[in-house]
Amino acid sequence: MKSTKAYSAISETSALAASTIERRELTDRDVQMEILYCGVCHSDLHQVRNEWRDSMPTSYPCVPGHEIVGRVTGLGSAVTRFKSGDLAAIGCMVDSCGKCPPCLAKEEVYCEKSAVLTYNSPDRHTGGYTFGGYSEYIVVDERFCLRVPANLDPARVAPLLCAGITTYSPLRHWKVGPGQKVGVVGLGGLGHMGVKFAKAFGCEVVLFTTSPNKIEDGLRLGASQVVVSKDASQMTPHTGTFDFILDCVSADHDVNAYIRLLKRDRTLCLIGAPEKPLAVASFGLLFGRKRLSGSAIGGTEETQEMLDFCGKHGITADIELIPIQKVNEAYDRLLKSDVKYRFVIDLASLRA
Ligand code: NAP
Ligand code: ZN
Ligand code: ZN
Repeated sequence: MKSTKAYSAISETSALAASTIERRELTDRDVQMEILYCGVCHSDLHQVRNEWRDSMPTSYPCVPGHEIVGRVTGLGSAVTRFKSGDLAAIGCMVDSCGKCPPCLAKEEVYCEKSAVLTYNSPDRHTGGYTFGGYSEYIVVDERFCLRVPANLDPARVAPLLCAGITTYSPLRHWKVGPGQKVGVVGLGGLGHMGVKFAKAFGCEVVLFTTSPNKIEDGLRLGASQVVVSKDASQMTPHTGTFDFILDCVSADHDVNAYIRLLKRDRTLCLIGAPEKPLAVASFGLLFGRKRLSGSAIGGTEETQEMLDFCGKHGITADIELIPIQKVNEAYDRLLKSDVKYRFVIDLASLRA
């Protein structure tokens, strides 16, 4: 085992603080990476504070971070796809059974036996649980290591590893494209990538926000209209007009107000994961035979496809680069929807 500097929380009420964790020795299939950048996802905040206690309780100490871009510094003998010095990336997953139907389809996030998340999941190598990217180094199975397009700024690539794939995957799955009206709810880390991808796929994009000060940015990022969702007079004209709605909200909100906006037989997909269950009125779904669905991150193959798509189209996240010492402040701002539009930690600040 190798000691590595990290930032961790020791309980659900503790702030993140400097600590030391152990990383495993390289197996023959492992890649070791010096982490350069790690995005701050709202899921990090949910898990540090144990807000998903009912479905995914947090083990402490918790080292969050699953939007990782780094430099390869070590290779197992059987690694074939990377060489020392390469830029590489890791997203939300680091292991899975590799044999079940979703794994064979490279949709490892839906693994039926053992989807291992980048942090807070049982770790078969150490017997403990996994630690994420708010750290100096990470060791990962080559299968979960991704290639970073050379033409993109690596700091702005980091958020693609969760916010990017989590929005790209459902938009692809539900085949949104030209001629369709697509709604994106909430302009945060996920939402701003959702707007960029829906626009890149040729849709008419409408952004729903609770923050009137984000109207200009919504239009700049690719929405043709921005609706302030608290204003009923802005919502009503859109009733029954949407082909697809992607709900990226991190807190409790009225999902029925968006189901109402769908056309008959169309889908609202939840990707936000608020602490408490949402209330859904059956009648909103019944009349119109509408569908309420969900989507989790995306598999390795689709994540690579998304990164390559971003390379080809010059798409990256809008970020605020912070030293790790400011991460608790960043969490406070995240809770106030005050980020444009993803905090990314510069891990040079942890090494300094
Ligand atoms: P974020 O950057 O904090 O963005 C969330 C946005 O939701 C805010 O910017 C805000 O947008 C809106 N919002 C916040 N509180 C609200 C409220 N009370 N009512 C209505 N709108 C509100 O978070 P994120 O990192 O994008 O993550 C969003 C959610 O997705 C989190 O729950 C996260 O855990 C989840 N997630 C899920 C997956 C998955 O696999 N499905 C992957 C990653 C993250 P406006 O200011 O525009 O209203
Ligand atoms: Zn995430
Ligand atoms: Zn599996």
